[in-house]
Amino acid sequence: MPNSQHSTNRLVYDGIYPCPICRLGQIQTMPLMDAMACHSCRHIFTPDLDRQLLKMTDRQPPMTWRWNGKTWIGGHLEGVEWGWGTWILAVAFIVLPPTLIGLAAYTFPPTPGSRLSWFPLAWTGLTFLSHLGIIGWLLMEFYQFPLGVYLRVRRQQFLSR
Ligand SMILES: [Zn+2]
Repeated sequence: MPNSQHSTNRLVYDGIYPCPICRLGQIQTMPLMDAMACHSCRHIFTPDLDRQLLKMTDRQPPMTWRWNGKTWIGGHLEGVEWGWGTWILAVAFIVLPPTLIGLAAYTFPPTPGSRLSWFPLAWTGLTFLSHLGIIGWLLMEFYQFPLGVYLRVRRQQFLSR
């Protein structure tokens, strides 16, 4: 009977690892199978021990993570760094367009009391929210964080208390 607790610094078949999907459960090899499954969200993964990769196959495109000894790293974006330059671009992408629209509305204000005088303000807010949404979605893709699954497992745990 192999001891699984001390070998989790490498990805091995008899190890126990945190689930990269819900980040709450643990994944473990299923009996008599090459696949690993999570106890909480029931997703099934295929480990690649040579490359220390974990692939979730019931999703298109398949998600892949790399085990670095402690945690899972989003695998298919390996080598891409979400560094300072990217953060500055992301903030600029969120802040600049609404600022420009707001400035234009401020420089050429609509006639006070006219029917569409609320429009520049609403449009500025909408621009801000949509750009914020795009960056949020990119971040979740980058960190391979499926928000829907996470929320579902959280709710199930909450309800089963
Ligand atoms: Zn899970």
